[in-house]
Amino acid sequence: MMHDSLVFDLINKELERQRHGIELIASENFTSLQVMQAMGSVLTNKYAEGYPGRRYYGGCEIVDQVEQLAIDRIKQVFNCEYANVQPHSGAQANAALMLAILQPGDKILGLDLSMGGHLTHGSSVNFSGKIYQPLFYGVEKETGLVDYAMLEKVAREEKPKLIICGASAYSRDWDYARIRKVADEVGAFVLCDMAHPAGLIAKGLLSSPFEHCHFVTSTTHKTLRGPRGGIILMKKDFENPFGLKDPKGNIRMMSNLLDMAVFPGTQGGPLEHVIAAKAVAFGELLSDEFTVYAKQVIENAQAMSAALVSRGYQIISNGTDNHLMLIDLRNKNISGKKAEQVLGKADITLNKNMVPFDDKSAFVTSGIRVGVPAITSRGMKASDMEFVVDAIDTVLMNADDEAKLESVRKKVNEFMAQFPLYPELG
Ligand code: PLP
Repeated sequence: MMHDSLVFDLINKELERQRHGIELIASENFTSLQVMQAMGSVLTNKYAEGYPGRRYYGGCEIVDQVEQLAIDRIKQVFNCEYANVQPHSGAQANAALMLAILQPGDKILGLDLSMGGHLTHGSSVNFSGKIYQPLFYGVEKETGLVDYAMLEKVAREEKPKLIICGASAYSRDWDYARIRKVADEVGAFVLCDMAHPAGLIAKGLLSSPFEHCHFVTSTTHKTLRGPRGGIILMKKDFENPFGLKDPKGNIRMMSNLLDMAVFPGTQGGPLEHVIAAKAVAFGELLSDEFTVYAKQVIENAQAMSAALVSRGYQIISNGTDNHLMLIDLRNKNISGKKAEQVLGKADITLNKNMVPFDDKSAFVTSGIRVGVPAITSRGMKASDMEFVVDAIDTVLMNADDEAKLESVRKKVNEFMAQFPLYPELG
Protein backbone atom coordinates (compact mmCIF):
# COMPACT_ATOMS: atom_id res chain seq x y z
CA MET A 1 0.00 0.00 0.00
CA MET A 2 1.24 3.48 -0.81
CA HIS A 3 2.71 5.38 2.14
CA ASP A 4 0.49 8.39 2.69
CA SER A 5 3.24 10.96 2.86
CA LEU A 6 0.73 13.78 2.54
CA VAL A 7 -0.83 13.00 5.93
CA PHE A 8 2.33 11.80 7.68
CA ASP A 9 4.33 14.83 6.58
CA LEU A 10 1.67 17.00 8.16
CA ILE A 11 1.79 14.95 11.36
CA ASN A 12 5.55 15.46 11.48
CA LYS A 13 5.12 19.19 10.96
CA GLU A 14 2.69 19.27 13.86
CA LEU A 15 5.22 17.41 16.03
CA GLU A 16 7.79 20.08 15.19
CA ARG A 17 5.28 22.84 15.96
CA GLN A 18 4.56 21.30 19.36
CA ARG A 19 8.29 20.91 20.06
CA HIS A 20 9.27 24.49 19.21
CA GLY A 21 6.49 26.42 20.87
CA ILE A 22 5.29 27.35 24.33
CA GLU A 23 1.91 25.69 24.74
CA LEU A 24 -0.29 27.67 27.08
CA ILE A 25 -3.75 26.50 26.02
CA ALA A 26 -5.21 25.58 29.42
CA SER A 27 -7.15 22.59 28.09
CA GLU A 28 -4.16 20.97 26.36
CA ASN A 29 -1.46 18.66 27.58
CA PHE A 30 1.16 16.22 26.27
CA THR A 31 0.28 12.59 26.89
CA SER A 32 2.93 9.99 27.44
CA LEU A 33 4.17 7.98 24.46
CA GLN A 34 2.45 4.88 25.92
CA VAL A 35 -0.90 6.66 25.84
CA MET A 36 -0.40 7.48 22.16
CA GLN A 37 0.79 3.96 21.38
CA ALA A 38 -2.35 2.46 22.94
CA MET A 39 -4.44 4.85 20.87
CA GLY A 40 -2.69 3.91 17.65
CA SER A 41 -3.18 0.17 18.29
CA VAL A 42 -5.16 -2.67 16.68
CA LEU A 43 -7.96 -2.02 19.13
CA THR A 44 -9.19 0.58 16.65
CA ASN A 45 -10.39 -2.35 14.53
CA LYS A 46 -12.81 -3.73 17.11
CA TYR A 47 -16.57 -3.23 17.45
CA ALA A 48 -17.77 -3.68 21.02
CA GLU A 49 -21.26 -2.20 21.48
CA GLY A 50 -22.34 -2.87 25.05
CA TYR A 51 -20.24 -3.17 28.21
CA PRO A 52 -17.65 -5.68 29.49
CA GLY A 53 -19.34 -9.09 29.78
CA ARG A 54 -22.47 -7.90 27.96
CA ARG A 55 -21.66 -7.05 24.35
CA TYR A 56 -23.56 -7.17 21.10
CA TYR A 57 -20.50 -8.46 19.17
CA GLY A 58 -18.29 -11.55 19.37
CA GLY A 59 -14.55 -11.46 19.96
CA CYS A 60 -14.74 -8.98 22.83
CA GLU A 61 -12.92 -11.08 25.45
CA ILE A 62 -9.79 -8.97 25.29
CA VAL A 63 -11.33 -5.53 24.91
CA ASP A 64 -13.55 -6.46 27.87
CA GLN A 65 -10.39 -6.75 29.98
CA VAL A 66 -9.03 -3.48 28.63
CA GLU A 67 -12.23 -1.58 29.38
CA GLN A 68 -12.52 -3.18 32.83
CA LEU A 69 -8.96 -2.05 33.62
CA ALA A 70 -9.83 1.51 32.67
CA ILE A 71 -12.97 1.37 34.84
CA ASP A 72 -11.19 -0.17 37.84
CA ARG A 73 -8.27 2.27 37.68
CA ILE A 74 -10.34 5.45 37.46
CA LYS A 75 -12.58 4.21 40.29
CA GLN A 76 -9.44 3.72 42.35
CA VAL A 77 -8.12 7.18 41.42
CA PHE A 78 -11.25 8.95 42.66
CA ASN A 79 -12.34 6.34 45.21
CA CYS A 80 -15.77 6.09 43.61
CA GLU A 81 -18.31 3.35 43.00
CA TYR A 82 -19.24 3.90 39.37
CA ALA A 83 -17.38 4.80 36.20
CA ASN A 84 -18.35 4.84 32.54
CA VAL A 85 -15.27 5.28 30.36
CA GLN A 86 -17.00 5.19 26.97
CA PRO A 87 -17.97 8.83 26.26
CA HIS A 88 -16.07 9.95 23.17
CA SER A 89 -15.58 13.42 24.63
CA GLY A 90 -16.47 15.70 27.51
CA ALA A 91 -19.44 17.06 25.56
CA GLN A 92 -20.68 13.50 24.95
CA ALA A 93 -20.36 12.70 28.65
CA ASN A 94 -22.51 15.71 29.53
CA ALA A 95 -25.05 14.88 26.79
CA ALA A 96 -25.43 11.33 28.11
CA LEU A 97 -25.69 12.49 31.71
CA MET A 98 -28.48 14.93 30.83
CA LEU A 99 -30.28 12.34 28.71
CA ALA A 100 -30.24 9.99 31.70
CA ILE A 101 -31.77 12.34 34.23
CA LEU A 102 -33.69 15.06 32.36
CA GLN A 103 -36.71 15.40 30.09
CA PRO A 104 -36.74 17.89 27.19
CA GLY A 105 -37.73 21.30 28.53
CA ASP A 106 -36.44 20.66 32.06
CA LYS A 107 -34.59 23.55 33.66
CA ILE A 108 -30.82 23.40 34.10
CA LEU A 109 -28.66 25.95 35.92
CA GLY A 110 -25.01 26.43 34.99
CA LEU A 111 -22.24 29.02 34.96
CA ASP A 112 -22.70 31.44 32.07
CA LEU A 113 -20.38 30.77 29.13
CA SER A 114 -19.28 34.41 29.10
CA MET A 115 -18.30 34.09 32.79
CA GLY A 116 -16.18 30.97 32.33
CA GLY A 117 -18.76 28.21 31.88
CA HIS A 118 -18.82 25.60 29.11
CA LEU A 119 -21.02 25.35 26.01
CA THR A 120 -22.59 22.14 27.32
CA HIS A 121 -23.79 23.89 30.48
CA GLY A 122 -26.75 25.48 28.73
CA SER A 123 -25.45 27.64 25.86
CA SER A 124 -28.13 28.49 23.29
CA VAL A 125 -25.96 27.15 20.44
CA ASN A 126 -25.48 23.77 22.15
CA PHE A 127 -27.81 20.77 22.65
CA SER A 128 -27.92 21.67 26.35
CA GLY A 129 -29.52 25.05 25.65
CA LYS A 130 -31.74 23.81 22.82
CA ILE A 131 -33.22 20.70 24.42
CA TYR A 132 -33.36 21.92 28.02
CA GLN A 133 -34.33 25.29 29.48
CA PRO A 134 -31.09 26.98 30.49
CA LEU A 135 -30.63 29.28 33.47
CA PHE A 136 -27.36 30.85 34.51
CA TYR A 137 -25.38 32.15 37.42
CA GLY A 138 -22.27 34.27 37.05
CA VAL A 139 -19.28 35.57 38.94
CA GLU A 140 -19.17 38.64 41.17
CA LYS A 141 -18.00 41.77 39.37
CA GLU A 142 -15.76 42.94 42.23
CA THR A 143 -14.06 39.65 43.09
CA GLY A 144 -14.35 37.47 39.99
CA LEU A 145 -15.50 34.65 42.29
CA VAL A 146 -18.56 32.47 41.63
CA ASP A 147 -21.66 34.36 42.73
CA TYR A 148 -23.11 31.70 45.02
CA ALA A 149 -25.81 34.09 46.24
CA MET A 150 -27.01 34.46 42.64
CA LEU A 151 -26.86 30.70 42.13
CA GLU A 152 -29.00 30.19 45.25
CA LYS A 153 -31.47 32.91 44.26
CA VAL A 154 -32.01 31.52 40.76
CA ALA A 155 -32.24 27.97 42.12
CA ARG A 156 -34.88 28.94 44.68
CA GLU A 157 -36.92 30.97 42.18
CA GLU A 158 -36.73 28.60 39.23
CA LYS A 159 -36.30 25.16 40.82
CA PRO A 160 -34.07 23.62 38.14
CA LYS A 161 -33.78 19.83 37.87
CA LEU A 162 -30.01 20.05 37.51
CA ILE A 163 -27.38 22.44 38.85
CA ILE A 164 -24.04 22.28 37.06
CA CYS A 165 -20.77 23.43 38.59
CA GLY A 166 -17.36 23.34 36.96
CA ALA A 167 -16.00 25.63 34.26
CA SER A 168 -13.63 26.14 31.36
CA ALA A 169 -12.12 29.42 32.47
CA TYR A 170 -12.32 29.74 36.24
CA SER A 171 -9.15 29.79 38.31
CA ARG A 172 -10.58 29.20 41.79
CA ASP A 173 -11.75 26.22 43.81
CA TRP A 174 -15.49 25.50 44.28
CA ASP A 175 -17.76 25.34 47.31
CA TYR A 176 -19.52 22.09 46.41
CA ALA A 177 -21.20 21.73 49.83
CA ARG A 178 -22.94 25.09 49.41
CA ILE A 179 -24.27 24.09 45.98
CA ARG A 180 -25.52 20.72 47.27
CA LYS A 181 -27.33 22.43 50.12
CA VAL A 182 -29.48 24.58 47.84
CA ALA A 183 -29.92 21.68 45.41
CA ASP A 184 -31.40 19.55 48.20
CA GLU A 185 -33.65 22.43 49.14
CA VAL A 186 -35.12 22.73 45.61
CA GLY A 187 -34.94 19.06 44.61
CA ALA A 188 -32.17 19.34 42.01
CA PHE A 189 -29.36 16.98 41.09
CA VAL A 190 -25.82 18.39 41.15
CA LEU A 191 -23.34 17.69 38.37
CA CYS A 192 -19.72 18.71 38.69
CA ASP A 193 -18.02 18.92 35.31
CA MET A 194 -14.42 18.76 36.55
CA ALA A 195 -12.93 18.56 33.04
CA HIS A 196 -10.32 21.23 33.68
CA PRO A 197 -8.94 20.54 37.17
CA ALA A 198 -9.60 16.75 37.29
CA GLY A 199 -5.91 15.83 37.54
CA LEU A 200 -5.45 18.19 40.48
CA ILE A 201 -8.59 16.88 42.21
CA ALA A 202 -7.30 13.33 41.64
CA LYS A 203 -4.29 14.17 43.78
CA GLY A 204 -6.25 15.92 46.53
CA LEU A 205 -4.86 19.36 45.65
CA LEU A 206 -8.30 20.92 45.25
CA SER A 207 -11.61 20.21 47.03
CA SER A 208 -13.25 16.99 45.95
CA PRO A 209 -16.69 17.24 44.32
CA PHE A 210 -17.41 13.57 45.00
CA GLU A 211 -18.81 13.94 48.51
CA HIS A 212 -21.35 16.54 47.45
CA CYS A 213 -22.24 16.06 43.79
CA HIS A 214 -24.53 13.28 42.57
CA PHE A 215 -22.58 13.05 39.32
CA VAL A 216 -19.12 14.01 38.13
CA THR A 217 -18.11 14.22 34.47
CA SER A 218 -14.73 14.99 32.98
CA THR A 219 -12.66 15.05 29.87
CA THR A 220 -9.60 12.81 30.02
CA HIS A 221 -7.18 14.96 28.03
CA LYS A 222 -6.67 18.10 30.09
CA THR A 223 -4.98 17.93 33.51
CA LEU A 224 -5.75 14.16 33.53
CA ARG A 225 -3.18 13.94 30.69
CA GLY A 226 -4.84 11.09 28.85
CA PRO A 227 -6.25 10.68 25.34
CA ARG A 228 -9.07 12.90 24.10
CA GLY A 229 -12.26 11.56 25.64
CA GLY A 230 -14.80 11.70 28.45
CA ILE A 231 -15.88 9.85 31.58
CA ILE A 232 -18.91 9.80 33.88
CA LEU A 233 -18.40 8.99 37.58
CA MET A 234 -20.52 8.63 40.71
CA LYS A 235 -19.19 8.42 44.23
CA LYS A 236 -22.15 6.26 45.18
CA ASP A 237 -24.71 4.53 43.00
CA PHE A 238 -28.33 5.04 44.01
CA GLU A 239 -31.83 3.92 43.04
CA ASN A 240 -33.19 6.05 40.23
CA PRO A 241 -35.90 8.36 41.53
CA PHE A 242 -37.98 8.06 38.34
CA GLY A 243 -39.45 4.64 39.19
CA LEU A 244 -37.89 3.05 36.08
CA LYS A 245 -37.77 -0.76 36.29
CA ASP A 246 -35.91 -3.44 34.38
CA PRO A 247 -37.80 -6.25 32.55
CA LYS A 248 -37.84 -8.32 35.75
CA GLY A 249 -39.57 -5.50 37.63
CA ASN A 250 -36.52 -4.46 39.66
CA ILE A 251 -35.97 -0.74 40.16
CA ARG A 252 -33.05 0.29 37.97
CA MET A 253 -30.05 1.89 39.62
CA MET A 254 -28.69 5.25 38.43
CA SER A 255 -25.68 3.37 37.06
CA ASN A 256 -27.99 1.45 34.67
CA LEU A 257 -29.58 4.68 33.49
CA LEU A 258 -26.19 6.29 32.90
CA ASP A 259 -24.83 3.25 31.04
CA MET A 260 -27.95 3.17 28.87
CA ALA A 261 -27.70 6.89 28.19
CA VAL A 262 -24.14 6.48 26.86
CA PHE A 263 -24.91 3.33 24.87
CA PRO A 264 -27.38 3.06 23.18
CA GLY A 265 -28.60 6.53 24.22
CA THR A 266 -26.03 8.78 22.60
CA GLN A 267 -23.28 6.58 21.14
CA GLY A 268 -22.75 3.39 19.17
CA GLY A 269 -19.54 1.39 19.39
CA PRO A 270 -17.04 2.50 22.03
CA LEU A 271 -13.55 3.56 20.91
CA GLU A 272 -11.67 0.69 22.55
CA HIS A 273 -8.29 2.02 21.37
CA VAL A 274 -9.04 5.27 23.17
CA ILE A 275 -10.33 3.36 26.20
CA ALA A 276 -7.01 1.45 26.26
CA ALA A 277 -5.21 4.79 26.21
CA LYS A 278 -7.47 5.96 29.04
CA ALA A 279 -6.50 2.83 31.00
CA VAL A 280 -2.81 3.67 30.50
CA ALA A 281 -3.32 7.28 31.53
CA PHE A 282 -5.31 6.25 34.61
CA GLY A 283 -2.45 3.93 35.58
CA GLU A 284 -0.07 6.89 35.27
CA LEU A 285 -2.46 8.97 37.35
CA LEU A 286 -2.12 6.49 40.20
CA SER A 287 1.67 6.92 40.29
CA ASP A 288 3.73 9.08 42.65
CA GLU A 289 5.24 10.74 39.58
CA PHE A 290 1.84 12.19 38.76
CA THR A 291 1.56 13.60 42.29
CA VAL A 292 4.82 15.46 41.71
CA TYR A 293 3.50 16.66 38.34
CA ALA A 294 0.18 17.89 39.75
CA LYS A 295 1.90 19.83 42.55
CA GLN A 296 4.27 21.38 40.02
CA VAL A 297 1.30 22.48 37.89
CA ILE A 298 -0.07 24.51 40.80
CA GLU A 299 3.35 25.92 41.68
CA ASN A 300 3.92 26.96 38.08
CA ALA A 301 0.47 28.55 37.77
CA GLN A 302 1.06 30.58 40.91
CA ALA A 303 4.53 31.65 39.78
CA MET A 304 3.12 32.67 36.41
CA SER A 305 0.30 34.62 37.99
CA ALA A 306 2.74 36.48 40.28
CA ALA A 307 5.06 37.28 37.36
CA LEU A 308 2.13 38.64 35.33
CA VAL A 309 0.85 40.75 38.22
CA SER A 310 4.34 42.20 38.75
CA ARG A 311 4.18 43.45 35.14
CA GLY A 312 0.80 45.10 35.68
CA TYR A 313 -1.44 42.40 34.22
CA GLN A 314 -4.89 42.00 35.74
CA ILE A 315 -5.78 38.43 36.63
CA ILE A 316 -9.50 37.76 37.15
CA SER A 317 -10.01 36.94 40.85
CA ASN A 318 -6.45 38.18 41.44
CA GLY A 319 -4.80 34.80 41.14
CA THR A 320 -5.29 31.09 40.80
CA ASP A 321 -5.86 27.95 42.86
CA ASN A 322 -5.54 25.62 39.87
CA HIS A 323 -3.74 25.29 36.54
CA LEU A 324 -5.05 28.33 34.71
CA MET A 325 -5.75 32.03 34.88
CA LEU A 326 -7.78 34.52 32.92
CA ILE A 327 -6.03 37.79 32.05
CA ASP A 328 -8.04 40.95 31.49
CA LEU A 329 -6.08 42.92 28.88
CA ARG A 330 -8.19 46.08 28.95
CA ASN A 331 -5.51 48.07 30.80
CA LYS A 332 -2.95 46.95 28.19
CA ASN A 333 -4.91 48.28 25.21
CA ILE A 334 -4.88 45.08 23.20
CA SER A 335 -7.78 42.75 22.47
CA GLY A 336 -7.73 39.03 23.18
CA LYS A 337 -7.95 38.36 19.45
CA LYS A 338 -4.93 40.47 18.60
CA ALA A 339 -2.98 39.07 21.59
CA GLU A 340 -3.64 35.50 20.42
CA GLN A 341 -2.53 36.41 16.88
CA VAL A 342 0.73 38.15 17.78
CA LEU A 343 1.71 35.60 20.43
CA GLY A 344 1.18 32.96 17.76
CA LYS A 345 3.80 34.72 15.62
CA ALA A 346 6.26 34.20 18.46
CA ASP A 347 5.30 30.48 18.76
CA ILE A 348 3.39 31.06 22.00
CA THR A 349 0.00 29.40 21.75
CA LEU A 350 -3.00 30.34 23.86
CA ASN A 351 -6.59 31.38 23.30
CA LYS A 352 -8.50 34.60 23.42
CA ASN A 353 -11.24 34.45 26.05
CA MET A 354 -14.08 36.66 27.15
CA VAL A 355 -13.57 38.07 30.62
CA PRO A 356 -16.55 38.46 32.99
CA PHE A 357 -18.70 41.48 32.00
CA ASP A 358 -16.75 41.79 28.74
CA ASP A 359 -17.74 44.61 26.44
CA LYS A 360 -16.24 42.87 23.41
CA SER A 361 -17.73 39.93 21.49
CA ALA A 362 -16.59 36.31 21.78
CA PHE A 363 -14.75 36.75 18.45
CA VAL A 364 -12.67 39.66 19.74
CA THR A 365 -12.70 39.45 23.57
CA SER A 366 -10.86 41.52 26.17
CA GLY A 367 -8.87 38.66 27.59
CA ILE A 368 -6.69 35.64 27.17
CA ARG A 369 -6.70 32.32 29.05
CA VAL A 370 -3.37 30.91 30.09
CA GLY A 371 -2.71 27.44 31.47
CA VAL A 372 0.38 25.56 32.54
CA PRO A 373 -0.45 21.81 32.30
CA ALA A 374 1.35 21.37 28.97
CA ILE A 375 4.51 23.35 29.80
CA THR A 376 4.70 21.53 33.13
CA SER A 377 4.60 18.22 31.27
CA ARG A 378 7.51 19.55 29.19
CA GLY A 379 9.47 19.82 32.45
CA MET A 380 9.23 23.50 33.27
CA LYS A 381 9.59 24.61 36.87
CA ALA A 382 8.40 27.75 38.68
CA SER A 383 11.70 29.53 37.88
CA ASP A 384 10.97 29.11 34.14
CA MET A 385 7.78 31.16 34.39
CA GLU A 386 9.80 34.41 34.36
CA PHE A 387 11.04 33.61 30.84
CA VAL A 388 7.56 32.72 29.65
CA VAL A 389 5.95 35.85 31.10
CA ASP A 390 8.76 38.05 29.83
CA ALA A 391 8.22 36.64 26.33
CA ILE A 392 4.44 37.22 26.55
CA ASP A 393 4.94 40.77 27.81
CA THR A 394 7.52 41.65 25.15
CA VAL A 395 5.15 40.42 22.43
CA LEU A 396 2.10 42.23 23.77
CA MET A 397 4.01 45.48 24.31
CA ASN A 398 5.47 45.32 20.79
CA ALA A 399 2.51 43.82 18.96
CA ASP A 400 3.11 45.68 15.69
CA ASP A 401 6.89 45.30 15.60
CA GLU A 402 7.47 42.29 13.36
CA ALA A 403 11.24 42.25 13.98
CA LYS A 404 10.68 42.13 17.74
CA LEU A 405 8.14 39.31 17.38
CA GLU A 406 10.63 37.38 15.26
CA SER A 407 13.38 37.85 17.84
CA VAL A 408 11.07 36.58 20.62
CA ARG A 409 10.16 33.58 18.44
CA LYS A 410 13.84 32.69 18.07
CA LYS A 411 14.39 32.94 21.82
CA VAL A 412 11.28 30.84 22.48
CA ASN A 413 12.50 28.13 20.10
CA GLU A 414 15.95 28.08 21.73
CA PHE A 415 14.39 27.98 25.20
CA MET A 416 12.11 25.08 24.32
CA ALA A 417 15.06 23.01 23.09
CA GLN A 418 15.85 22.45 26.79
CA PHE A 419 12.60 20.54 27.20
CA PRO A 420 12.63 17.63 24.75
CA LEU A 421 9.25 16.38 23.57
CA TYR A 422 8.91 12.77 22.45
CA PRO A 423 12.62 12.28 21.70
CA GLU A 424 11.80 8.63 20.94
CA LEU A 425 9.99 9.80 17.79
CA GLY A 426 13.28 10.99 16.30
N1 PLP B 1 -16.60 20.53 29.99
C1 PLP B 1 -15.69 21.49 30.23
C2 PLP B 1 -15.73 22.20 31.55
C3 PLP B 1 -14.73 21.79 29.27
O1 PLP B 1 -13.84 22.77 29.50
C4 PLP B 1 -14.74 21.08 28.04
C5 PLP B 1 -13.73 21.34 26.99
O2 PLP B 1 -13.21 22.35 26.78
C6 PLP B 1 -15.73 20.13 27.82
C7 PLP B 1 -16.63 19.86 28.83
C8 PLP B 1 -15.88 19.43 26.51
O3 PLP B 1 -14.94 18.52 26.22
P1 PLP B 1 -14.73 17.99 24.73
O4 PLP B 1 -14.03 19.06 23.99
O5 PLP B 1 -13.94 16.73 24.94
O6 PLP B 1 -16.10 17.69 24.17
